[in-house]
Amino acid sequence: MKYDYLIVGAGIYGAVFARVMTDAGKKVLVIDKRDHIAGNIYTESVEGINVHKYGAHIFHTNNKKVWDFLNKYAEFNRYTNSPVANYKGELYSLPFNMYTFNKMWGVVTPQEAAAKIEAQRKEAGITEPKNLEEQAISLVGTDIYEKLIKGYTMKQWGRPCTELPSFIIKRLPVRLTFDNNYFNALYQGIPMGGYTAMVERLLEGIEVRLGVDYLLERDSYEGVAAKTVYTGAIDGFFDYSLGYLEYRSVRFETEVLDTDNFQGNAVVNYTDSETPFTRIIEHKFFEFGTQEKTVISREYSSEWKFGDEPYYPVNDEKNGKLYESYVELSKTVPNVIFGGRLGEYKYYDMDVVVDKALSMAEAEING
Ligand code: UDP
Repeated sequence: MKYDYLIVGAGIYGAVFARVMTDAGKKVLVIDKRDHIAGNIYTESVEGINVHKYGAHIFHTNNKKVWDFLNKYAEFNRYTNSPVANYKGELYSLPFNMYTFNKMWGVVTPQEAAAKIEAQRKEAGITEPKNLEEQAISLVGTDIYEKLIKGYTMKQWGRPCTELPSFIIKRLPVRLTFDNNYFNALYQGIPMGGYTAMVERLLEGIEVRLGVDYLLERDSYEGVAAKTVYTGAIDGFFDYSLGYLEYRSVRFETEVLDTDNFQGNAVVNYTDSETPFTRIIEHKFFEFGTQEKTVISREYSSEWKFGDEPYYPVNDEKNGKLYESYVELSKTVPNVIFGGRLGEYKYYDMDVVVDKALSMAEAEING
């Protein structure tokens, strides 16, 4: 066997795993079906602006080990995510904080905001939230749910909030302070020069073959490595033999505009249900760009179907059960490690993916 590990997918999981194993003296081969590295965190320069081609990625973490590791491969800027919500022309600060509550209700103090939320929660009669709708109302009340959550979530997931798990909304902080920072993380930023450059550094000196679709060329890779790390969708690996897991896909309409400032912020969410896209990203603002032009992407969310790119796993009960059956099936291929958002079918942030890749690499090294 020529390699210790065949790594399928040059995204962040594959690249981190490849780096650590290479540094531990293992021989690895990375393949990817796309013609570029970096998976969905890939950025490409357009008009001198790093465009997040597969959707906006903002790195944030509380995990110092992950932060220190990545800082060896990139310098992060001080970008802090503060999206604006546009509801039919009314603008609100995100995440839900005192600025949002003041704009929504005219309340001035944290006590007034808390009282308003409590009153709306009581009126809705929610004690133990069972789904995303009840969770949202119990966190921020019905007004914010109706204007800032209901429509956006419906568009994003293609399902009503009553049919979605509550953990999705718990990703967003709710604060009774004047703080528009979307994340509660100690460390946050965008790699200067883009994510692709960071992944390039992670993969330095490592053999990478692009444009290779493992699922189509599986036979020719049989026996090249002692173990395979598979970061694609787990159901795809097994030819969907137990059924299809559900994913959401995203389509981007990207435009170069002849203005230096289109919306004044990197992220503006359109939270009504009529606007067909979920948000508009203005890429230059992730890196405080001063270019003469600007590049924007409108994001349209859709149900994944065979042939589309999967982006978000739909982590509801039904899919959870099917995923568990695939995990059982994966025991028939003990030399394959499934990793990353698609391999593990989890709505992971980048830092969790890095942490998982580091732990998996350590476990492999320590046998
Ligand atoms: N969400 C919402 N309104 C917003 C932003 C987010 O209701 O303006 C909800 C929505 O259900 C979404 C979830 O919060 O799926 C998580 O949002 P996040 O910004 O973390 O999603 P991502 O950036 O991963 O697409």
